[in-house]
Amino acid sequence: MQITMPCYRCEEEVDEQKGIWRDGIFYCEKCYGKETPVYIEGMGPDAPTTEDGLESALPYDMTLIPPEFLFCLSALLKEGADKYGEGNWKRLSYRTNINHAICHILTDLAGDDREEHLINATARLLFAWWLKKEEKTHDKSM
Ligand SMILES: [Zn+2]
Repeated sequence: MQITMPCYRCEEEVDEQKGIWRDGIFYCEKCYGKETPVYIEGMGPDAPTTEDGLESALPYDMTLIPPEFLFCLSALLKEGADKYGEGNWKRLSYRTNINHAICHILTDLAGDDREEHLINATARLLFAWWLKKEEKTHDKSM
């Protein structure tokens, strides 16, 4: 009996024997190894126009995020990628990331400033958020 699976990237139904599993994600032979585009809502050709008609009406204002925070987060993510490999965290579970986030928050609350616990917690919440989103994307029963 042939079992088919949708390719994560192109969504084409492919014989499971002919596809490739990587980090819990199924790809067809054509798509394996290629970057998977992530479409950001409000940033495509369907983006609404401002009332004056001069430009796209963005639903975002990135200038509201303190730049120093993003630099701290980025430095931590680079440190992790150098130590464990880029994207290694995608192999961790949602639950373990939530646990690490809570532990970092409580350690900060206890007054331990030996490392950037709130930046670590943020990174762990980012990972948990991504893993939860991916799980929802691939769960066809929902
Ligand atoms: Zn494909």
